[in-house]
Amino acid sequence: MVCRTLSILGSSGSIGRQALKVAESCGHQVAAITVNRSVELAEAQARRFRPRLAVAVDGAAAADLRVRLADTGVKVLSGQEGLLEAASIPDADTVVTAIVGVAGLRPTLTAIDHGKRIALANKETLVCAGELVMSRAKEAKAEIVPVDSEHSAIFQCLQGCRDRGEVKRLIITASGGPFYGKTCKELSLVTKEQALRHPNWSMGAKITIDSATLMNKGLEFIEAMRLYAMPPERIQIVVHRESIIHSMVEFEDGAILAQLGSADMCLPIQYALTWPERTTGPAKPLDLLSCPPLTFRKPDPDTFRCLRLALECAEKGGTSTAILNGANEAAVELFLNDKISFLDIPRLVERALDTVPMSDAPGLEEILDADRAARQAVYDFAR
Ligand code: NDP
Ligand code: MG
Repeated sequence: MVCRTLSILGSSGSIGRQALKVAESCGHQVAAITVNRSVELAEAQARRFRPRLAVAVDGAAAADLRVRLADTGVKVLSGQEGLLEAASIPDADTVVTAIVGVAGLRPTLTAIDHGKRIALANKETLVCAGELVMSRAKEAKAEIVPVDSEHSAIFQCLQGCRDRGEVKRLIITASGGPFYGKTCKELSLVTKEQALRHPNWSMGAKITIDSATLMNKGLEFIEAMRLYAMPPERIQIVVHRESIIHSMVEFEDGAILAQLGSADMCLPIQYALTWPERTTGPAKPLDLLSCPPLTFRKPDPDTFRCLRLALECAEKGGTSTAILNGANEAAVELFLNDKISFLDIPRLVERALDTVPMSDAPGLEEILDADRAARQAVYDFAR
């Protein structure tokens, strides 16, 4: 059985907590955990898993955590330095990147530069800086194994494919979110509470809102382009309300391979750790005899404007995807703080894309500048 030693960046989040569940169930060690502010949970996790290092990015939270863990011998650090130390900790062979948003970019690059296996959940990193991340990983010979269920499904379907030229297209499934089939008029009336109620998955707040706007599917489209070096015309999105097929690969001969499973992130998290092997684990098994009929429909990017905007940026490339992502992160934050309405999210993202200047083939600093400019543009428009 494969036994890994993990550093879990974002251990207090939905993915981070499930990664710890997988670690416990499958016997992986934990060398480091990080949170932003969730000290109570970090303390409980540190006491249970005894990592060498626990990080709270927020300074006051780290001071609190240091007091809480004074009797344990667990080292406590704060800030970016703490995050980067967790990403490069020598004991860990695998870094689970479960921080939400572009805040995960620098630690992911650090983990890559240290040759770690990356169990990659933090899709925003690939959306903003996918080309940079993938080329740095190639250079450092760091394996990137996706955690996102769609990309894990594609990764699983590609096992045994010796020539990528045989792949005709990737087919990404989408649940359609809580507002599938609604009109623009109906969307203008939806509340935060409704948007936070996803029909099939239980996830962090930001990705749950992204699933409701369908921005999540747009980000995943760009994520798939970067992970699998596929042009946009060879990726298709189909709405599959049941979330049983997690995605598919169509080959040149017309065969379509699919990966099926229950809506449980433990399985893709576990596979990212054990690949190329498989082991038993905590994921809920799928009972085919109790599955509803499987349905497939076209997405509606005219009603769900965020999807349209993401697909346009996928074509444009350059810093446009960083602008899209930064503007979306800021708009979702405003929506979660009751400052703007649901349909203001695509409106503000579109305005940011129209106003923030774009550049081609950007480096890291240009990407981070584009991200900052997009956020500022959204805050300014929303004022
Ligand atoms: P959560 O919001 O549940 O958790 C986010 C984690 O990141 C928490 O540990 C949080 O700490 C930490 N964090 C937040 N902001 C910062 C920051 N600025 N610096 C450092 N750490 C920070 O998110 P999810 O687990 O839902 O998602 C994590 C990532 O995985 C996202 O990129 C998402 O798109 C992706 N993903 C998630 C899926 C899911 O099922 N949840 C499925 C597929 C992909 P604290 O608790 O202290 O705030
Ligand atoms: Mg997904």
